[in-house]
Amino acid sequence: MHPIDVAAHLRFPSKITFPILTANESGKFIPSRYSSRMPEYRRSFAAQLILIWSLNIVIDSLPYLQKSDFPAMARNSLEILQVNLGYLCNLSCSHCHVNAGPKRTELMDKDTIAEVLAFIDRHNVHTLDLTGGAPEMNPHFRYLTAQARKRGLKVIDRCNLVILLEKGFQDMAGFLAENQVEIVASLPCYLEENVDKQRGKGTFNASIKALQLLNGLGYGLTDDGLQLNLVFNPQGASLPPEQQGLERAYKQHLRERYGIAFNRLFAMANLPVQRFGSVLLSTGRFDDYLQLLKDNFQASNLDRVMCKNTLSVDWQGFVYDCDFNQMLQLPLGGKQKTHLAEVAELTGKTIAVMQHCYACTAGQGSSCGGAIG
Ligand code: SF4
Ligand code: SF4
Repeated sequence: MHPIDVAAHLRFPSKITFPILTANESGKFIPSRYSSRMPEYRRSFAAQLILIWSLNIVIDSLPYLQKSDFPAMARNSLEILQVNLGYLCNLSCSHCHVNAGPKRTELMDKDTIAEVLAFIDRHNVHTLDLTGGAPEMNPHFRYLTAQARKRGLKVIDRCNLVILLEKGFQDMAGFLAENQVEIVASLPCYLEENVDKQRGKGTFNASIKALQLLNGLGYGLTDDGLQLNLVFNPQGASLPPEQQGLERAYKQHLRERYGIAFNRLFAMANLPVQRFGSVLLSTGRFDDYLQLLKDNFQASNLDRVMCKNTLSVDWQGFVYDCDFNQMLQLPLGGKQKTHLAEVAELTGKTIAVMQHCYACTAGQGSSCGGAIG
């Protein structure tokens, strides 16, 4: 494949940097050099974010993560199965590490759902964590949820909120409440401008409406009732602020301004993979971001990163040490591709780690449940 000179195809202000993208062996694009058509460029993170987002360009960050000095880790016993039901999503957020969107067609089918349930029956898993894309858009979402609840599992729905208002999904919130599904909802900021910038115009107001709907069903009101937790991600190449303080600010703002209540806020670091990794690479900030993560390494977080007790499953049933490794196509233990049906005992098994793992251990740490430190 020929290199792509992105600048040659677009009319953007000349101060913006454009990478020349070259396809590697697996068909993903990597930046090989910057466009000579833009000699006076200034590297702009926001401009690159918009460019990569709008063109749906994904630069493979794996080659930049492979040379790693991250400490070796082994698994504890398995507790949580995190299942990606597919990459179809009603939104297309700039920081999405899955590169999900309305045009993606990958969805877990009924046979693979049956394999997930069979796995649950064979292993001592207490939580089923459903993610995507928008997991609710998988046609088998309700079946899988109901089956897992029947088996006594806690079910988590990683929900983008906006989906609860979309045509065809208006009864989803009621279904989630009836089945006592915990909702982990992304709301990257409590300010409209920032959320719309990251997730698309109108998403903030839609998210507020969905949160009010969930409160009306009893979500987020008490510590022992229906759980509604929110997720924060930094807008740029920085670490998340201190989680407790941020939670207080979110709670105060959402209560005073919109009358909204929720349980916990999870502050998560951005991983240098998929769209976010692409932006870092194309703005020349990849190394600086990795250095920031390394400079803030906390060894005490190593024991509580999510890969210790969680297994990640992709829409075809292949398994990974975590969702981020899934996006990097880095198989379980760093070995050959393994299917759910082939997984035996996991305790003590090696975890496939690389430089992106520093995002999980920097500062207060970052996992599916936010800060860990
Ligand atoms: S809602 Fe979530 S899965 Fe969908 S595009 Fe945004 S970050 Fe990705
Ligand atoms: S990215 Fe985080 S969760 Fe995934 S393997 Fe590395 S440390 Fe574990």
